[in-house]
Amino acid sequence: MTQVYHLSILTCLIFSIILFAGLLYTCIIFYQEKEKRAGFRALLLALLLPPIYLLTWYYNWEVIALILTADLLITSILFLIPFGNKKNITDDFPKTQIDERDIMFSRNELKENTERFKEYYSKNPDKLKLDNEFRKEPGLTAEKSIFFNEFAYKAANASFFTVEQFHQAVDGDINPIKSNISKSDLSKFIKDWSRKLGALNVGITELKDYHFYSHKGRGEGYGNPIESNHTHAIAFTVEMSQEMVAAAPQSSIVMESAQQYLEAGRIAVQLAQFLRSLGFSARAHIDGNYQIVCPLVAREAGLGEIGRMGLLMTPKEGPRVRLGVVTTEFELDTDKRTKNNSMLDFCLQCKKCAEVCPSKSISFDDPKLVNGIKRWQINSESCFTYWCKAGTDCGRCMACCPYSHPDNLLHNFIRFGIKNSALFRMLAVHLDDFFYGRKPKSADLPNWIPKNNTDY
Ligand code: SF4
Ligand code: SF4
Repeated sequence: MTQVYHLSILTCLIFSIILFAGLLYTCIIFYQEKEKRAGFRALLLALLLPPIYLLTWYYNWEVIALILTADLLITSILFLIPFGNKKNITDDFPKTQIDERDIMFSRNELKENTERFKEYYSKNPDKLKLDNEFRKEPGLTAEKSIFFNEFAYKAANASFFTVEQFHQAVDGDINPIKSNISKSDLSKFIKDWSRKLGALNVGITELKDYHFYSHKGRGEGYGNPIESNHTHAIAFTVEMSQEMVAAAPQSSIVMESAQQYLEAGRIAVQLAQFLRSLGFSARAHIDGNYQIVCPLVAREAGLGEIGRMGLLMTPKEGPRVRLGVVTTEFELDTDKRTKNNSMLDFCLQCKKCAEVCPSKSISFDDPKLVNGIKRWQINSESCFTYWCKAGTDCGRCMACCPYSHPDNLLHNFIRFGIKNSALFRMLAVHLDDFFYGRKPKSADLPNWIPKNNTDY
């Protein structure tokens, strides 16, 4: 027994040093991330917690040392042992295709007193009242919106304008001479080159019917059924800047969204052109010009899960990404998707996005049956109405999601625990609330964006 006491006392000394160093490192990281509240709290913990272990060692409090060591052992075991990762929280495969005419962007493009407008609402009378709400608001990047900022809005519109120029290049002529290339070589090259072009993560999947919209809902060919002979898709993410997202729902968010739509569009157009030059049909799916539902394709390509806020959540940047997709007839090597139940289980408990959503569009409930499958669904009408009021694409949910924290040693350590153990997930939700707050404040706009009319 004496030896056990000695060991416990020594453990207290070693742990007090590790704990102090760890909390100091945490504090530095938080300050580097401009998270003052979190940094202050980490500093407080660094000054309060290690002395408990240090005093135990110094005064040789044997029983307390034993209790503290046992506590330490149990916590480490909880952190390291995989536990509670098998729950089936949401269903994977939609039973029906989505009609692109029903999504908010398509409905926003309907002009009153046009044939298209009359036809759509005569078939969907229930949506007219809901849509009249967003039509009363100033609109995205509009002058009278809450977060109007001339520089940021015009910069965002310049990016949207540029991505629109790519629409004519999403598809094109195919080289009549097919290259005799191996599928493994091509798959590998596409992934490596995509990363070189700026993609963060890249995955490949086989296409299913439900990945495609049933009908076109935007631009030329409105209402036409979507037809494609493509069997495979390359999906990739591009990262949105933490600094620009943190100030959401202020104007930096729409600037960053537009910029990353442009980046994703550029990469997708390049990849599709490359495949066509090898003799294979390929199409880029970019902002304002999609035939497929990007988050579903990206999820099956192994890039993440669709969580409570309805966006694709990637393991390292969470929802703080934009997506690009290229579909092709070439049968590339596919990635095997492993459902990440730990992420969905974390969403079950966290609910932070629901808490901070200014339009209350995100549900606090568990996933429900929607069109025969169990999933979370946000209220897209109230969300879009808020966008039209704010003038930006809001992004408060994205900014506050614990998965959106930067990809660094500190947050990856927490992510490891979250992935491993259900008990650690419970702890992580409380830790995030403790450091960042249950309803974290929006950060200031990056100081290089001139501020005007930022009252809200
Ligand atoms: S904020 Fe929480 S509940 Fe919402 S998507 Fe992120 S992890 Fe899930
Ligand atoms: S974007 Fe804003 S309004 Fe829409 S769901 Fe997220 S937090 Fe709510």
